[in-house]
Amino acid sequence: MVDYLIVGAGFSGCVLAERIATVLGKKCLIVEKRSHIGGNAYDYYNEHGILVHKYGPHIFHTNSPKVVEYLSQFTEWNQYEHKVLANVDGKNIPVPFNLNSLAQAFPAEKAEHLEKLLLEHFGYGTKIPILQLRQSTSGELADLAEFIYQKIFLHYTKKQWNLEPDELDDAVTARVPVFISHDNRYFQDDFQGMPSFGYTELFNKMIGNNPLIDVKLNTDYNDIQGSIQFKKLIFTGPIDEYFDYKFGALPYRSLRFEHETYNTDYYQETGTINYPNTYDYTRRTELKYLTSQIHEKTTCTIEFPQPFIIGENEPYYPIPQTHNNTLYSKYVREAEMIADSVIFCGRLADYKYYNMDQVVARALHIFEKRINLE
Ligand SMILES: Cc1cc2nc3c(=O)[nH]c(=O)nc-3n(C[C@H](O)[C@H](O)[C@H](O)COP(=O)(O)OP(=O)(O)OC[C@H]3O[C@@H](n4cnc5c(N)ncnc54)[C@H](O)[C@@H]3O)c2cc1C
Repeated sequence: MVDYLIVGAGFSGCVLAERIATVLGKKCLIVEKRSHIGGNAYDYYNEHGILVHKYGPHIFHTNSPKVVEYLSQFTEWNQYEHKVLANVDGKNIPVPFNLNSLAQAFPAEKAEHLEKLLLEHFGYGTKIPILQLRQSTSGELADLAEFIYQKIFLHYTKKQWNLEPDELDDAVTARVPVFISHDNRYFQDDFQGMPSFGYTELFNKMIGNNPLIDVKLNTDYNDIQGSIQFKKLIFTGPIDEYFDYKFGALPYRSLRFEHETYNTDYYQETGTINYPNTYDYTRRTELKYLTSQIHEKTTCTIEFPQPFIIGENEPYYPIPQTHNNTLYSKYVREAEMIADSVIFCGRLADYKYYNMDQVVARALHIFEKRINLE
């Protein structure tokens, strides 16, 4: 008999287990169908001894001091600020598109003129959604927006989602900013860094030594239902799977990762290079930039977007379309009916793309508002 049965050993499941065990002194059992803890943030040393993120590059960044304070109990941090270049017409230019990108993409005189126009219209340091720039009354700025849309956004988006931009929620396009700045960092959050010894080590510190937390790996909840007694269930897997897909499956986009190791100390000039217009992959990330590891070889992860097929690959990105959110809200209503016995939490249970800091904040919130009341 355990107090809490927790399905899934990603950030959601592990944070909740840690809080319940540490603060409430209650017993948790985590069941995880994969062979490791950490969920999609899991990292490991490959056969060359290089730290690799199995499910794609994970960069930690947040504006939440509370999340930093919480996670810092389990890790130290390496300073790291992510920079991304996009390969456009044979040149690698910074993204989000900024004033440095402008200088690289256009002849000097034209770039200076456009920079002046951007500064006059919007001011230094602003982020202008590409849709807003496309609607600019200045023909030259509208042309610039069209250039950015075509060269950086359009084909990348089609590759990523296998959909035209107008088939996706407007918010997706609206979010693509043009940054009126010389700041080449991909994120501007107050706190940016990487766990000094990796994510898996962070998870080990979070739940590994707690006698009130047990973990069963290689265990699918669907196979053990009824065989374990518990007082409450926390489910961080797919909400549609929990309800046997009774309203239909929630669609996701998947990815295939190739991890390639090269006999050179560095392969590319920055952490990530996007390939919007060439190849069938979207981006290539060199892990050593992220992890600060010193090694004579280097490993890159290349991401190939794929359709998601239940049972065959992993659900990574909820597809941002209104009818999918409508379908999800049917499952939310079901979940509300059993809210006394089951808590749904996490990216698969909430059918939302969360960054790691958001998912940690969400788990802490659920602990405070729904669990730490007993
Ligand atoms: C390619 C990619 C890159 C990303 N990069 C970043 C980044 O740079 N920065 C950032 O902040 N965030 C990033 N994220 C987001 C980050 O991965 C998530 O925020 C985080 O993993 C969510 O944690 P979670 O616990 O909700 O879900 P998960 O990590 O997916 O954990 C859920 C766990 O539940 C298990 N599970 C599911 N069903 C069952 C079942 N029936 N029985 C047993 N176990 C089950 C799964 O195997 C999984 O381990 C990225 C995500 C992806 C896909």
